[in-house]
Amino acid sequence: MKLNLLDLNPTELKEYITGLGFPGFRAKQVHEWLMRGVESFDEMTNIPAAMRSILDESATTGLLKIRQKLQSQIDETCKYLFCLNDGYIIESVLMKYKYGYSICISSQAGCRMGCKFCASSDIPFSRDLTAGEMLSQILTVNRDKNIKIGHIVIMGIGEPLDNYENVMKFLRNVQDPAGVNISYRKISLSTCGVVPGIYRLAEEDIPITLSISLHNPFDEQRTLIMPINRKYNLDKLIEACNSYIVKSGRRITFEYAMISGVNDSPEHAEKLCSRLKGMLCHVNLIPMNRVSGKSFERSHRKSIEQFSDILSRNGISVTVRRELGRDINAACGQLRKQQMDSD
Ligand code: SAH
Repeated sequence: MKLNLLDLNPTELKEYITGLGFPGFRAKQVHEWLMRGVESFDEMTNIPAAMRSILDESATTGLLKIRQKLQSQIDETCKYLFCLNDGYIIESVLMKYKYGYSICISSQAGCRMGCKFCASSDIPFSRDLTAGEMLSQILTVNRDKNIKIGHIVIMGIGEPLDNYENVMKFLRNVQDPAGVNISYRKISLSTCGVVPGIYRLAEEDIPITLSISLHNPFDEQRTLIMPINRKYNLDKLIEACNSYIVKSGRRITFEYAMISGVNDSPEHAEKLCSRLKGMLCHVNLIPMNRVSGKSFERSHRKSIEQFSDILSRNGISVTVRRELGRDINAACGQLRKQQMDSD
């Protein structure tokens, strides 16, 4: 396997280039090209041809192969299915907001967490993504669309806190002002509740937004839809969140997928309020996306409104997520699943 240069930080890249016997300034030139997203070393026109061919013998520029692309006709949402070097498939979703382009990236090929309502739970876990493979999702889409993505959410396939080291390396590389330059404040990381990872993240002292996929305020019910709850129950999770808030001074977002008859009653809303009382937090209600082969249905509009009202009345900041890319199955894991079903 060749070395993916996107897996290196600028210091490691310099060591690699000088290790091959080239002067240090060449590393800076190569880095600039890499951050622009190039398919081959031949595009690096200010690098001597001999050096390009030496690089090509042992390394790659890391751009991903686009296996399929689905462009929404309703909005600018575009879903990408990428093929990794070893054949595994991941996906990313590009979204357009008033403030610019945002991308939802995958952190693993497959997922180990097994949440019952999530399409990714049907994708067998294959492996962690490397830092470069996460960065490359951004570079490949930037190049394909000729845009500059400004915001990142780590909410695609996989559990980022189950791939901690690589995700941290990716975060450091992507916010580097000499590179892609997306600041921590424009990055959200979503977890189903890997408690030790939340404590570890608090120690990093980086101002990203932490999102927690909560989905049910009752332990027995949450365990039924999210197996992680058996290991880290709601008390432990909320305790970790409180500690994160104190340490980072940052507001946490709780994601709550509204599933009809499962977690959308007024009792659920009241219990959620009592769990989150006094916390520096925001609740994002997500009308559940239907996943083929699963029996869960989206909550009715009325239940969502009622749920949201109860939260507001209790002084909890709440929004209902606007839906993008409805016509292209933009929700979590769905394109990848479709592909698997037809393979
Ligand atoms: N493993 C991480 C990130 C990936 S999932 C996590 O669990 O947070 C990204 C978000 O999409 C999570 O909040 C997840 O619970 C939610 N999600 C998964 N399947 C969904 C569905 N069918 N409808 C709505 N949201 C879903």
